[in-house]
Amino acid sequence: MENLSYKETVDLLKESHDLTESQLITLLDGDRQCKNYLYETARRTTDAIFGRTVYLRGLVEFSNICKNDCYYCGIRRSHSHITRYRLSGEEILRCADKGYRLGFRTIVLQSGEDLYYTADMLCSIIREIKQSHPDMAVTLSIGEKERDFYQACFDAGADRFLLRHETATRLHYEQLHPPEMSYEHRMNCLKTLREIGYQTGCGFMVGSPGQTGHHLYRDLMFIKEFHPHMVGIGPFLSQKDTPFAKEANGSPNDTLVLLSIIRLLEPKVLLPATTALNTIASDGRESGLLAGANVIMPNLSPPDVREQYLLYDNKRHTGAESAEALDELEKSIGRIGFRIDFSRGDHPDYCCGTESVKRR
Ligand code: SAM
Repeated sequence: MENLSYKETVDLLKESHDLTESQLITLLDGDRQCKNYLYETARRTTDAIFGRTVYLRGLVEFSNICKNDCYYCGIRRSHSHITRYRLSGEEILRCADKGYRLGFRTIVLQSGEDLYYTADMLCSIIREIKQSHPDMAVTLSIGEKERDFYQACFDAGADRFLLRHETATRLHYEQLHPPEMSYEHRMNCLKTLREIGYQTGCGFMVGSPGQTGHHLYRDLMFIKEFHPHMVGIGPFLSQKDTPFAKEANGSPNDTLVLLSIIRLLEPKVLLPATTALNTIASDGRESGLLAGANVIMPNLSPPDVREQYLLYDNKRHTGAESAEALDELEKSIGRIGFRIDFSRGDHPDYCCGTESVKRR
């Protein structure tokens, strides 16, 4: 069983939606031709469910103020060389209006863990977005909160929540985060979000410091068990003022292999080709789509703050990464046979009603 060829390993993964740790290593170690077979298989799986369309999310990075001190992150609390900003409720609403006019039907509100925004404040922002644009989905990516906070935002109309688990191995988690942060708390937050009824996304960085093949395998098994609606992965990219400034960047090729594996493990999952992938590889977005991704998140933040939300060095936020340049994006993905789908782009099981929304 363990002496399968690369192609047989891919075929088995496609049929069984499962893999062993040594099969993961086989898939990561293959040559270019082998990997192309993996990417094509994942892409065909995506095509069968979603066709050659790509869902768009307008990303509003509404605050780069964070109470946490994650060792990898450019907006960590201890980073003193950046200009901190936070957008007012009105500014966030203007971003949503602009996104709506541009054609976006999902807005992603992302921030550092900024305690300035209370549940009441966020709820009124969510309600106003929903009132002005009932057909726009609201995704939150605001980090770890208590159940009541998550529930209030859900009741106010938030649809989805992205919270990367970062790593499914406690010891590795402790290598990436300071002692005051807790692996259990992050994992419990994910469970709570699911229980409340959010379409929930987890994810991790590829090639984060200390990460081994075993850690990656545990990440994949966590995804299989958690069965998320979305998975966000991208290469770790170093930021010069963090404790990980001298660490090597994650590999774009490993990221593509993992995107394909996640597609084959969880065929219906919503899977973005992330900005981090497109930052480290000039054709990262296109390669990501060809490896099975089906979501792109152009930047919809006010242009004057985009340069301040620098999680890592050289982050791309211009050209087709920006919400204003949808023509450019359409052309670049059109060249490889994809087109933009301007609908809300819910998870297939969600919009088909096999999961019920339990808002209070
Ligand atoms: N505060 C929220 C949270 O904790 O989920 C959302 C913002 S946080 C900055 C978003 C994600 O950026 C993190 O989950 C992490 O995986 C990613 N990230 C942070 N620093 C990074 C780096 N240096 N390279 C690649 N990704 C990074």
